Amino acid sequence: MACIFCEVAAGEIPATVVKRGDGMLAFRDINPQAPTHLLVIPVEHVASLNDTSDPQLIGRLMLFARELAREVGIADQGYRVVVNTNPDGGQTVFHLHLHVLGGRPMTWPPG
Ligand code: 5GP
Ligand code: ZN
Repeated sequence: MACIFCEVAAGEIPATVVKRGDGMLAFRDINPQAPTHLLVIPVEHVASLNDTSDPQLIGRLMLFARELAREVGIADQGYRVVVNTNPDGGQTVFHLHLHVLGGRPMTWPPG
């Protein structure tokens, strides 16, 4: 399998899984940029945000991230959801994922 997040979803690469269900998976980023840095992916391979027009999939991803934030205790204080897309967006892994970042104040604008 060529896609590392497909391999994570299949259990072929170890990851710290925090939440799963509804065709989604959340796990800890290997190189965290905040005290809480989680990635949310659809188990089904989608390369980037440009590669799906399925409103159910996109909506379920976002709601999964919101519920995840609540469950890990960062919802009230606040958090950031990021979807890097293609080279200018800073995407390095081409399996659609949401970054859920929290546990510290975020700055704006992003780098
Ligand atoms: P992108 O730059 O594509 O938006 O984000 C990819 C993210 O995946 C990066 O934050 C990177 O640290 C994380 N990452 C890359 N490879 C792995 C891995 O094998 N396991 C985990 N848990 N995270 C990874
Ligand atoms: Zn994949």
